[in-house]
Amino acid sequence: MDISVVIPTYNEEENIPLLYNRLKSTVSDLGLSHEFIFVNDGSRDRSMQQVRQLSTQDPAVKFVDFSRNFGHQIAVTAGLDHSSGDSVVIIDADLQDPPEVIADLYKKMKEGYEVVYAKRASREGESWLKKWTAKSFYRILGKLTNIKIPVDTGDFRIVDRRVVELLKEMPEQNKYLRGQIAWMGFNQTFISYDRKERYAGETGYNYRKMFRFAIDGVTAFSDIPLKIVSYFGLIVSGFAFVVMIFALYARFILKDYEPGWTSLILSVLFIGGVQMIAIGIIGEYLSRINTNIRNRPLYIVRDSNLTKTE
Ligand code: UDP
Ligand code: MG
Repeated sequence: MDISVVIPTYNEEENIPLLYNRLKSTVSDLGLSHEFIFVNDGSRDRSMQQVRQLSTQDPAVKFVDFSRNFGHQIAVTAGLDHSSGDSVVIIDADLQDPPEVIADLYKKMKEGYEVVYAKRASREGESWLKKWTAKSFYRILGKLTNIKIPVDTGDFRIVDRRVVELLKEMPEQNKYLRGQIAWMGFNQTFISYDRKERYAGETGYNYRKMFRFAIDGVTAFSDIPLKIVSYFGLIVSGFAFVVMIFALYARFILKDYEPGWTSLILSVLFIGGVQMIAIGIIGEYLSRINTNIRNRPLYIVRDSNLTKTE
Protein backbone atom coordinates (compact mmCIF):
# COMPACT_ATOMS: atom_id res chain seq x y z
CA MET A 1 0.00 0.00 0.00
CA ASP A 2 1.50 3.34 -1.07
CA ILE A 3 -0.67 5.75 0.80
CA SER A 4 -3.27 5.81 3.57
CA VAL A 5 -5.47 8.84 4.05
CA VAL A 6 -6.83 9.26 7.56
CA ILE A 7 -10.03 11.29 7.85
CA PRO A 8 -11.43 12.11 11.30
CA THR A 9 -15.13 12.54 10.75
CA TYR A 10 -17.67 14.20 13.01
CA ASN A 11 -21.01 15.20 11.50
CA GLU A 12 -19.73 15.63 7.96
CA GLU A 13 -22.51 13.99 5.91
CA GLU A 14 -22.66 16.79 3.34
CA ASN A 15 -18.91 16.82 2.78
CA ILE A 16 -18.19 13.12 2.42
CA PRO A 17 -19.27 12.52 -1.20
CA LEU A 18 -17.31 15.45 -2.62
CA LEU A 19 -14.36 14.73 -0.36
CA TYR A 20 -14.27 11.15 -1.58
CA ASN A 21 -14.37 12.16 -5.25
CA ARG A 22 -11.60 14.68 -4.88
CA LEU A 23 -9.43 12.32 -2.84
CA LYS A 24 -9.97 9.54 -5.33
CA SER A 25 -8.97 11.59 -8.33
CA THR A 26 -5.94 13.04 -6.55
CA VAL A 27 -4.43 9.68 -5.57
CA SER A 28 -5.44 8.06 -8.86
CA ASP A 29 -3.65 10.80 -10.80
CA LEU A 30 -0.56 10.04 -8.75
CA GLY A 31 -1.02 6.37 -9.61
CA LEU A 32 -0.82 5.23 -6.00
CA SER A 33 -2.34 2.21 -4.33
CA HIS A 34 -4.35 3.65 -1.50
CA GLU A 35 -6.88 3.38 1.30
CA PHE A 36 -9.14 6.05 2.77
CA ILE A 37 -9.74 5.51 6.46
CA PHE A 38 -12.78 7.36 7.73
CA VAL A 39 -12.85 7.40 11.52
CA ASN A 40 -16.39 8.16 12.55
CA ASP A 41 -16.08 10.00 15.84
CA GLY A 42 -19.61 9.50 17.12
CA SER A 43 -21.35 11.54 14.43
CA ARG A 44 -25.02 12.20 15.06
CA ASP A 45 -25.86 12.63 11.39
CA ARG A 46 -25.69 10.21 8.45
CA SER A 47 -21.91 10.34 8.04
CA MET A 48 -21.48 6.67 8.92
CA GLN A 49 -24.17 5.52 6.46
CA GLN A 50 -22.45 7.58 3.77
CA VAL A 51 -19.10 5.96 4.46
CA ARG A 52 -20.59 2.47 4.56
CA GLN A 53 -22.27 3.11 1.25
CA LEU A 54 -18.97 4.21 -0.29
CA SER A 55 -17.19 1.18 1.15
CA THR A 56 -19.55 -1.16 -0.68
CA GLN A 57 -18.69 0.55 -3.98
CA ASP A 58 -14.96 0.97 -3.42
CA PRO A 59 -12.90 -1.49 -1.36
CA ALA A 60 -10.35 1.30 -0.77
CA VAL A 61 -12.86 2.95 1.55
CA LYS A 62 -12.25 1.80 5.11
CA PHE A 63 -13.97 2.83 8.30
CA VAL A 64 -13.48 2.75 12.02
CA ASP A 65 -16.72 3.54 13.78
CA PHE A 66 -16.35 4.78 17.37
CA SER A 67 -18.86 3.95 20.10
CA ARG A 68 -19.14 7.68 20.88
CA ASN A 69 -17.37 11.01 20.33
CA PHE A 70 -13.78 10.68 21.54
CA GLY A 71 -12.40 13.87 20.00
CA HIS A 72 -10.44 14.80 16.92
CA GLN A 73 -6.94 13.83 18.10
CA ILE A 74 -8.09 10.40 19.23
CA ALA A 75 -9.91 9.89 15.92
CA VAL A 76 -6.71 10.65 14.05
CA THR A 77 -4.80 8.29 16.35
CA ALA A 78 -7.25 5.48 15.61
CA GLY A 79 -6.83 6.09 11.89
CA LEU A 80 -3.06 5.85 12.23
CA ASP A 81 -3.39 2.68 14.33
CA HIS A 82 -5.35 1.03 11.53
CA SER A 83 -3.36 2.34 8.57
CA SER A 84 -0.96 0.31 6.49
CA GLY A 85 0.32 2.72 3.83
CA ASP A 86 4.01 3.53 3.41
CA SER A 87 2.97 7.16 3.71
CA VAL A 88 0.03 8.41 5.69
CA VAL A 89 -1.90 11.63 5.13
CA ILE A 90 -4.02 13.26 7.82
CA ILE A 91 -6.76 15.48 6.41
CA ASP A 92 -9.94 17.14 7.68
CA ALA A 93 -13.25 15.92 6.30
CA ASP A 94 -14.74 19.37 5.78
CA LEU A 95 -12.68 20.26 2.67
CA GLN A 96 -10.91 23.09 4.48
CA ASP A 97 -7.78 21.19 3.53
CA PRO A 98 -8.02 20.80 -0.26
CA PRO A 99 -7.40 17.11 -1.18
CA GLU A 100 -5.43 18.21 -4.27
CA VAL A 101 -2.70 19.51 -1.95
CA ILE A 102 -1.91 15.85 -1.16
CA ALA A 103 -0.16 15.65 -4.52
CA ASP A 104 2.23 18.43 -3.48
CA LEU A 105 2.75 16.88 -0.06
CA TYR A 106 3.55 13.52 -1.62
CA LYS A 107 5.98 14.92 -4.16
CA LYS A 108 7.76 16.97 -1.52
CA MET A 109 8.08 13.91 0.70
CA LYS A 110 9.73 11.98 -2.13
CA GLU A 111 12.53 14.55 -2.07
CA GLY A 112 13.59 12.85 1.16
CA TYR A 113 11.50 13.95 4.11
CA GLU A 114 9.79 11.97 6.84
CA VAL A 115 7.24 14.68 7.50
CA VAL A 116 5.77 17.32 5.22
CA TYR A 117 3.18 19.47 6.87
CA ALA A 118 0.86 21.90 5.14
CA LYS A 119 1.26 25.43 6.39
CA ARG A 120 -1.65 27.82 6.14
CA ALA A 121 -0.67 30.78 4.01
CA SER A 122 -4.20 32.11 4.46
CA ARG A 123 -7.37 31.03 6.21
CA GLU A 124 -10.79 31.69 4.80
CA GLY A 125 -14.10 31.76 6.57
CA GLU A 126 -12.84 31.67 10.13
CA SER A 127 -13.62 34.35 12.68
CA TRP A 128 -10.88 36.86 13.55
CA LEU A 129 -11.15 35.67 17.15
CA LYS A 130 -10.31 32.10 16.16
CA LYS A 131 -7.43 33.21 13.95
CA TRP A 132 -6.11 35.59 16.58
CA THR A 133 -6.32 33.09 19.46
CA ALA A 134 -4.67 30.41 17.32
CA LYS A 135 -1.88 32.71 16.23
CA SER A 136 -1.16 33.97 19.74
CA PHE A 137 -1.34 30.50 21.19
CA TYR A 138 1.22 28.98 18.83
CA ARG A 139 3.62 31.80 19.55
CA ILE A 140 3.24 31.41 23.31
CA LEU A 141 3.60 27.64 22.99
CA GLY A 142 6.80 28.18 21.03
CA LYS A 143 8.19 30.24 23.91
CA LEU A 144 7.17 27.66 26.51
CA THR A 145 8.65 24.61 24.85
CA ASN A 146 12.05 23.58 23.63
CA ILE A 147 10.79 21.79 20.57
CA LYS A 148 9.84 23.69 17.47
CA ILE A 149 6.15 23.16 16.85
CA PRO A 150 5.48 24.80 13.49
CA VAL A 151 3.19 27.83 13.60
CA ASP A 152 0.09 28.18 11.42
CA THR A 153 -0.20 24.43 10.90
CA GLY A 154 -2.86 21.97 11.84
CA ASP A 155 -2.66 18.23 11.46
CA PHE A 156 -2.94 18.31 7.65
CA ARG A 157 0.29 16.62 6.62
CA ILE A 158 1.93 13.55 5.19
CA VAL A 159 4.14 11.35 7.35
CA ASP A 160 6.31 8.35 6.73
CA ARG A 161 5.39 4.93 8.11
CA ARG A 162 8.23 5.19 10.64
CA VAL A 163 6.59 8.24 12.16
CA VAL A 164 3.30 6.35 12.46
CA GLU A 165 5.02 3.42 14.18
CA LEU A 166 6.67 5.80 16.65
CA LEU A 167 3.37 7.53 17.38
CA LYS A 168 1.84 4.15 18.16
CA GLU A 169 4.47 3.72 20.85
CA MET A 170 3.40 6.92 22.60
CA PRO A 171 0.49 5.89 24.80
CA GLU A 172 -0.38 9.31 26.20
CA GLN A 173 -4.08 10.00 26.59
CA ASN A 174 -4.05 13.75 25.97
CA LYS A 175 -2.78 13.66 22.43
CA TYR A 176 -1.10 16.60 20.82
CA LEU A 177 -0.02 14.95 17.59
CA ARG A 178 1.51 17.97 15.89
CA GLY A 179 3.73 18.41 18.95
CA GLN A 180 4.61 14.73 19.21
CA ILE A 181 5.60 14.66 15.55
CA ALA A 182 7.69 17.83 15.88
CA TRP A 183 9.38 16.29 18.93
CA MET A 184 10.53 13.27 16.89
CA GLY A 185 12.96 15.15 14.72
CA PHE A 186 13.85 13.53 11.35
CA ASN A 187 13.66 15.65 8.22
CA GLN A 188 10.60 17.79 8.38
CA THR A 189 9.53 20.50 6.01
CA PHE A 190 6.39 22.23 4.84
CA ILE A 191 4.53 23.49 1.83
CA SER A 192 2.13 26.41 1.89
CA TYR A 193 -1.51 26.23 0.99
CA ASP A 194 -4.62 28.36 1.25
CA ARG A 195 -6.97 27.00 3.85
CA LYS A 196 -10.50 27.11 2.55
CA GLU A 197 -13.82 27.72 4.11
CA ARG A 198 -15.75 24.72 5.40
CA TYR A 199 -17.70 23.29 2.44
CA ALA A 200 -20.76 22.40 4.48
CA GLY A 201 -21.79 21.78 8.07
CA GLU A 202 -20.45 23.33 11.24
CA THR A 203 -17.20 23.23 13.13
CA GLY A 204 -16.94 20.51 15.77
CA TYR A 205 -14.34 22.55 17.65
CA ASN A 206 -15.99 25.03 19.98
CA TYR A 207 -13.94 27.36 22.19
CA ARG A 208 -14.17 24.96 25.12
CA LYS A 209 -12.59 22.15 23.08
CA MET A 210 -10.01 24.56 21.66
CA PHE A 211 -9.07 25.70 25.15
CA ARG A 212 -8.64 22.14 26.42
CA PHE A 213 -6.60 21.28 23.36
CA ALA A 214 -4.38 24.30 23.97
CA ILE A 215 -3.76 23.24 27.58
CA ASP A 216 -3.02 19.71 26.35
CA GLY A 217 -0.37 21.18 24.09
CA VAL A 218 1.27 23.17 26.85
CA THR A 219 1.18 20.48 29.52
CA ALA A 220 2.44 17.79 27.16
CA PHE A 221 5.53 19.73 26.22
CA SER A 222 6.36 22.19 28.96
CA ASP A 223 6.79 22.40 32.72
CA ILE A 224 7.40 26.11 32.55
CA PRO A 225 3.95 27.09 33.92
CA LEU A 226 4.74 25.11 37.07
CA LYS A 227 8.10 26.82 37.33
CA ILE A 228 6.57 30.26 36.83
CA VAL A 229 4.25 29.47 39.72
CA SER A 230 7.15 28.59 42.00
CA TYR A 231 9.16 31.67 41.05
CA PHE A 232 6.16 33.85 41.53
CA GLY A 233 5.56 32.28 44.93
CA LEU A 234 9.16 33.05 45.88
CA ILE A 235 8.89 36.66 44.80
CA VAL A 236 5.61 37.20 46.61
CA SER A 237 6.95 35.51 49.76
CA GLY A 238 10.08 37.65 49.71
CA PHE A 239 7.98 40.77 49.39
CA ALA A 240 5.64 39.59 52.17
CA PHE A 241 8.61 38.97 54.45
CA VAL A 242 9.84 42.55 54.03
CA VAL A 243 6.37 43.93 54.71
CA MET A 244 6.09 41.69 57.77
CA ILE A 245 9.33 43.01 59.27
CA PHE A 246 8.20 46.55 58.58
CA ALA A 247 4.79 45.95 60.16
CA LEU A 248 6.37 44.59 63.34
CA TYR A 249 8.83 47.46 63.42
CA ALA A 250 6.03 50.01 63.03
CA ARG A 251 3.90 48.34 65.65
CA PHE A 252 6.44 47.82 68.41
CA ILE A 253 9.24 50.31 67.83
CA LEU A 254 7.65 53.29 66.12
CA LYS A 255 4.31 52.66 67.80
CA ASP A 256 2.89 54.34 64.72
CA TYR A 257 0.23 52.23 63.05
CA GLU A 258 -3.10 52.66 61.35
CA PRO A 259 -6.01 50.29 61.09
CA GLY A 260 -5.38 49.67 57.35
CA TRP A 261 -8.35 47.93 55.81
CA THR A 262 -7.46 48.78 52.21
CA SER A 263 -3.98 47.35 52.24
CA LEU A 264 -5.21 44.31 54.13
CA ILE A 265 -8.02 43.48 51.74
CA LEU A 266 -5.85 44.10 48.70
CA SER A 267 -3.12 41.79 49.86
CA VAL A 268 -5.58 39.09 50.92
CA LEU A 269 -7.30 39.19 47.52
CA PHE A 270 -4.03 39.30 45.65
CA ILE A 271 -2.47 36.38 47.48
CA GLY A 272 -5.77 34.49 47.28
CA GLY A 273 -5.87 34.97 43.50
CA VAL A 274 -2.28 33.94 43.00
CA GLN A 275 -2.83 30.82 45.06
CA MET A 276 -5.93 29.82 43.12
CA ILE A 277 -4.18 30.22 39.80
CA ALA A 278 -1.24 28.22 41.12
CA ILE A 279 -3.47 25.43 42.36
CA GLY A 280 -5.33 25.49 39.05
CA ILE A 281 -2.13 25.06 37.07
CA ILE A 282 -0.98 22.22 39.29
CA GLY A 283 -4.45 20.73 38.91
CA GLU A 284 -4.17 20.72 35.11
CA TYR A 285 -1.01 18.66 35.30
CA LEU A 286 -2.39 16.43 38.03
CA SER A 287 -5.56 15.63 36.12
CA ARG A 288 -3.48 14.57 33.12
CA ILE A 289 -1.36 12.31 35.27
CA ASN A 290 -4.59 10.89 36.65
CA THR A 291 -6.01 10.23 33.18
CA ASN A 292 -2.86 8.43 32.12
CA ILE A 293 -2.65 6.37 35.31
CA ARG A 294 -6.12 4.94 34.70
CA ASN A 295 -4.72 3.34 31.60
CA ARG A 296 -8.04 3.06 29.81
CA PRO A 297 -8.17 2.33 26.11
CA LEU A 298 -7.94 5.50 24.05
CA TYR A 299 -11.09 4.71 22.12
CA ILE A 300 -13.74 2.06 21.67
CA VAL A 301 -14.54 0.73 18.22
CA ARG A 302 -18.12 -0.23 17.51
CA ASP A 303 -17.46 -1.58 14.05
CA SER A 304 -14.72 -1.56 11.44
CA ASN A 305 -13.70 -3.20 8.19
CA LEU A 306 -10.07 -2.99 9.28
CA THR A 307 -7.94 -4.39 12.06
CA LYS A 308 -5.20 -2.58 13.91
CA THR A 309 -1.89 -2.86 12.11
CA GLU A 310 1.03 -4.24 14.06
N1 UDP B 1 -13.64 16.17 14.28
C1 UDP B 1 -13.66 14.95 14.94
N2 UDP B 1 -14.11 14.92 16.24
C2 UDP B 1 -14.50 16.06 16.90
C3 UDP B 1 -14.44 17.29 16.21
C4 UDP B 1 -14.00 17.32 14.91
O1 UDP B 1 -13.30 13.91 14.40
O2 UDP B 1 -14.90 15.94 18.06
C5 UDP B 1 -13.16 16.20 12.87
C6 UDP B 1 -14.03 16.96 11.90
O3 UDP B 1 -15.00 16.13 11.30
C7 UDP B 1 -13.02 17.46 10.87
C8 UDP B 1 -11.78 17.69 11.70
O4 UDP B 1 -11.92 16.89 12.87
O5 UDP B 1 -12.74 16.48 9.89
C9 UDP B 1 -11.57 19.14 12.06
O6 UDP B 1 -12.67 19.59 12.79
P1 UDP B 1 -13.43 20.96 12.50
O7 UDP B 1 -13.51 21.24 11.05
O8 UDP B 1 -14.74 20.87 13.22
O9 UDP B 1 -12.48 22.00 13.23
P2 UDP B 1 -11.99 23.42 12.68
O10 UDP B 1 -11.52 23.22 11.27
O11 UDP B 1 -13.15 24.31 12.77
O12 UDP B 1 -10.89 23.79 13.62
MG1 MG C 1 -12.72 22.51 9.81
